[in-house]
Amino acid sequence: MNPDTSRYGSPDSGLRDCLTVVVAAFNEADSLPLLHPRVASTLDALAADGVAGRLLYVDDGSRDGTWEVLQSLAAGDRRVALLRLSRNFGKEAALTAGLDRVETGAALILDADGQDPPELIPEFVAKWREGFDDVHGTRIEREGEGWIKRMTAHAFYRVIGRLSKTPIPPDTGDFRLLSPRALAALRQLRERHRFMKGLFGWVGFNRVSVPYHRDARMAGRSKFNLWRLWNFALEGITSFSTAPLRLATYLGLLTAAVAFAYGVWIIVKALIWSDPVAGWPTMMAVILFLGGVQLIALGLIGEYLGRLYEEAKQRPLYLVDDWRPAADAARVAAV
Ligand code: UDP
Ligand code: MG
Repeated sequence: MNPDTSRYGSPDSGLRDCLTVVVAAFNEADSLPLLHPRVASTLDALAADGVAGRLLYVDDGSRDGTWEVLQSLAAGDRRVALLRLSRNFGKEAALTAGLDRVETGAALILDADGQDPPELIPEFVAKWREGFDDVHGTRIEREGEGWIKRMTAHAFYRVIGRLSKTPIPPDTGDFRLLSPRALAALRQLRERHRFMKGLFGWVGFNRVSVPYHRDARMAGRSKFNLWRLWNFALEGITSFSTAPLRLATYLGLLTAAVAFAYGVWIIVKALIWSDPVAGWPTMMAVILFLGGVQLIALGLIGEYLGRLYEEAKQRPLYLVDDWRPAADAARVAAV
């Protein structure tokens, strides 16, 4: 049994480990009614195994009736707590909001669309009980995702793996279980630009991956189009690496060295062979090339500066519109 596990003291319930499943949902009115029974029955099975399961749905400013669907789910299940954000803050902020509300025990992050199979939760719990703090699902296959997404995702994990000093396991999403101490550690990281995969890695502790088959969405459409994914990748790289800044320095050094050699060559040519001044094609090529390089370097610095600016404002990560604790929360607090 995990020594860090928060326990219920109630002798009659016999439940000792507490696990809260956190689900961020943005416009998932179609998926949630399909997902909930799967999670609920998994939690029922876990209860027999001594785990008090809870569910926390975070409505990330949905506009399609997700909140109403969630309310009806909560009405039918006493384990369900609901949190509604004041607008769409994005998945990372929604997850942070959810994790902030987990009071006891471990937390497990699940996608609302059923791409992360809830049936695997007992396997995650077993690993947690073995003493692991960060049990993460690693996809062995992606279904229902086009080759562009597969290829870009593949490239992204390889690039970030090279650039970042923090270990970021490839093909690992947010499907993971965090032990109470890993959760407490994660909560201390309040940066605005939240690249969760990196934050989990930064926390460390005992980590283990559970390979799984990633299904296609049950309903609805992915919220992440290519442009959003590109920004996500930028976010990941700038949040966990300053290598691009260094690259700019090296590029500058290299250009300067080449320019110097070329300058010497021109002077020597003019002195020895008294060559006439070369035409403007060379000149234009050099000016345009250098202009481009400089603009790219400036843009790079801008990316980091912009993030610094956002960070400096110290705004809250999310705002809560509504919070409805689980119906059985009072009972749990009493024991
Ligand atoms: N999500 C969210 N806020 C957003 C976008 C997405 O809470 O602004 C949730 C979404 O409801 C789902 C999860 O994040 O539960 C993953 O989203 P999606 O399935 O669209 O991403 P993909 O699986 O395609 O990467
Ligand atoms: Mg999905």
